[in-house]
Amino acid sequence: MKPSMHTSFALASCCILAPSALLAQTPLFSDAPAATKAQESAVAADNSSLAQATPHLHSIIQALPLDTQRFNEHIIVLSSPWMGGRLPGTPGMEFAMDYMEYWLKRAGIEPGVPSSDGSPATFRQAFDLGGRRVAKDQSVSITPTAGAAFSLVPNQDVQISGLGKEGSAEGALAFVGYGIEEGPEGYTSFSADHSLEGKIALCFRFEPMNTEGKSLWSGEGWSAQAGFQGKLAAIAKRKPAAIVVINPPGAADPRATSLNTSGGRAIVDVPVFMMSTDAAERVLAAADSKSRSVMELRQEADKGGASFDLAGATASVAASYEEKKTRAENVIGLLKGRGTLASEYIVIGGHLDHLGNGDFGSREGPGRLHPGADDNASGAAGVMIIADDLAQKYAAAPTDANLRSVLFMGFSAEESGLNGSRHYVEHPLYPIKDTVLMMNFDMIGRMTKDRLSVTGANSAKGMLEWAKPIFDRGECTVVINEAMGSGGSDHASFRAAGVPFLFGIIADFHADYHTSRDVSELIERESGMKAVRLWEDLAWEMAQRPERFVFDDQSGPMRGTQIRVRIGMRTRDAEDGSGLEVSDVTKDSISDKAGVLKGDHVVKFNKISIKTREDLVNELRKLEPKGEVQVVITRAGEEKTLFLKLGDE
Ligand SMILES: [Zn+2]
Repeated sequence: MKPSMHTSFALASCCILAPSALLAQTPLFSDAPAATKAQESAVAADNSSLAQATPHLHSIIQALPLDTQRFNEHIIVLSSPWMGGRLPGTPGMEFAMDYMEYWLKRAGIEPGVPSSDGSPATFRQAFDLGGRRVAKDQSVSITPTAGAAFSLVPNQDVQISGLGKEGSAEGALAFVGYGIEEGPEGYTSFSADHSLEGKIALCFRFEPMNTEGKSLWSGEGWSAQAGFQGKLAAIAKRKPAAIVVINPPGAADPRATSLNTSGGRAIVDVPVFMMSTDAAERVLAAADSKSRSVMELRQEADKGGASFDLAGATASVAASYEEKKTRAENVIGLLKGRGTLASEYIVIGGHLDHLGNGDFGSREGPGRLHPGADDNASGAAGVMIIADDLAQKYAAAPTDANLRSVLFMGFSAEESGLNGSRHYVEHPLYPIKDTVLMMNFDMIGRMTKDRLSVTGANSAKGMLEWAKPIFDRGECTVVINEAMGSGGSDHASFRAAGVPFLFGIIADFHADYHTSRDVSELIERESGMKAVRLWEDLAWEMAQRPERFVFDDQSGPMRGTQIRVRIGMRTRDAEDGSGLEVSDVTKDSISDKAGVLKGDHVVKFNKISIKTREDLVNELRKLEPKGEVQVVITRAGEEKTLFLKLGDE
């Protein structure tokens, strides 16, 4: 808890979120006692200045039931620019966790994470997300033969990349086009009589492109030549002192505006820098004796290759980086049960994190805020509402009632591979063997015709029979999904640990998934609340059910289950132990359409880590031929996320 941050957050949120009646009146963070629903209703009705400003919106919001208003507000806040797309390790994610913690507390939920040293329990279960290289001490300066030397601004003009080593270099400048050894029709970026030795080699990112900034060599996206691996290796072979990769002007790829390179093992032995188009313009103005612009150099390189010295200036570059561990946290709250069932647990969870600015996992590339309103502000909002309502039900139940304990969880780092939920099941705070049901929400905000897909009803014997009447009396049209792997979300971690589960997600996918267009304006609030009420009904019934559910092994890897999807990708375990390699892609297959190329390595499938062919086959067995599945591959040293469309909706 950081009180100062909470204060400023409460103030700023009021400004940003003026249309929201309740938020304008209810500080997000205060120690004031929880208002009753009647008080809140009075507050909303009283908000006359807002009513005057936006009479129409106000009356619509006010006409909604209070829990729907609250659901709406949770989603608006969590998907606001304030939260920065909720990337683990960022201030935005910190705000999101504070927000969820605040609302759990307000509902009367206790901190769910006991301390090991006797200090009070907290709502945060921390874990390491692994190392990330962060640049430090970067300096790049250009010394023209005529005129004054100048420096470039680190992280804005230029940034060291993890694709190379740290270090420093000083030398003449040379230009090597796209750094491509051998392209179609004899294309090469290297002039035979030109040496790069000891020089600072400048090259363009990607590959020759047309006037629209699209590849000349590939119908869709870039060809394998565009990757870093090939060009950096081809340049490094010629022994430069450092390599600078310039973002080419006019490229139809959002990465061309970013200095970040994803993935990150060093693939060459010299420092590698990324440079913005703007900075390259300044460098060229000083260094190119022919006074060409960056665009003119690009157009020359588009036509054919030639490398040459930029003799008008020398450069000196230096940089180091440090390994920074990203710390992520799951938010966990506890509603204590009582009587004979108190030592059994129900987990109600949903992931709180999303993609930040789309640096990974995005369908449109980085550079824009990915608000994640449906994915998964909607599910997290549902968890907060259920916490509030169940706490009231527990308080109102007879003192001698037998009620299970309930854990409310906002998982972190789901998008990067179910890291938060996996950490929980590997480091459980309450016995996994007594965790009798995990209920996961991931995307409930954009249902079509109230259609909610529910997976896992067959993960315990008798569960479907028990749940069916509850499904039937609910307001959603429940679409039972018998494939156990569908969705690739946090329930998969609990399933792997042998916990019966129910997973709710919109039954019909939308094209805004994992894009900057997943915004709160498009949320179907009333429909989403139907899913929330259904989950709450199930949880309340389960809280009192005398018998527990026992996990049904059938939902394990399901050996012998037929694979029902044909993805058109042949794979083999790479001989060098580097993982699962794509050995062939069938033309016009799902994989072909998604952009999978021969030679790619599959590292994740449906958010599950893939190391061997068997891993992939197990995941394929769990799928039904509908919806989409996310595949993370590495190509030429860079990680890429692709989406396989399994069927038409
Ligand atoms: Zn999600």
